[in-house]
Amino acid sequence: MIPDSGPTDPRLSRAFRYCPRCATPGPAILDNRQLQCPCCGLRFFFNTAAAAAVFLFAGNRLVLGVRAEEPRRGCLDVPGGFIEFDESVEAGLRREVREELGVEIRDLRYLASFPNDYLYADIPYKTADLFFVGAVADPAHLRAADDIAELVLLEPAAVDPARFAFASTRRAFQVLLAALATPAAPA
Ligand SMILES: [Zn+2]
Repeated sequence: MIPDSGPTDPRLSRAFRYCPRCATPGPAILDNRQLQCPCCGLRFFFNTAAAAAVFLFAGNRLVLGVRAEEPRRGCLDVPGGFIEFDESVEAGLRREVREELGVEIRDLRYLASFPNDYLYADIPYKTADLFFVGAVADPAHLRAADDIAELVLLEPAAVDPARFAFASTRRAFQVLLAALATPAAPA
């Protein structure tokens, strides 16, 4: 079942002006997620991309990055990224954190997921953002990769959610705050 999402996004019409198989101009883009060629019959789906991010604690402070690149340069971000082909979400997240911060994660556990819109090179992507909570295994090795302008360590109560680059992160952060406010169940 394809949800009806209204008129075709003009950014998709601009990016996919020809059928990628037979080069017929003006393939239909149904519901912003399915390219259909009236000439050769090609059907191509724009699928949801999986991304993972972690609210990563170093002691009682969250490790946050200031984005050095578009989209949303200058906004706060949690470490993470897109999951590669043939990679588990957990392995992809550990890889991203290793690449971005140079550290391993311990006590990784799932928190929540939210949909997100991600614009890159004027092409809108739909993502499923999966959020986890974890701790830095080796804080002395923390360092920021090139796509992070600066690392900031903040206690959750000191984080202004409006500074997060993405709506999905703001929503997951509310789930995190609620979880932190709930006393842990007795063992
Ligand atoms: Zn075609």
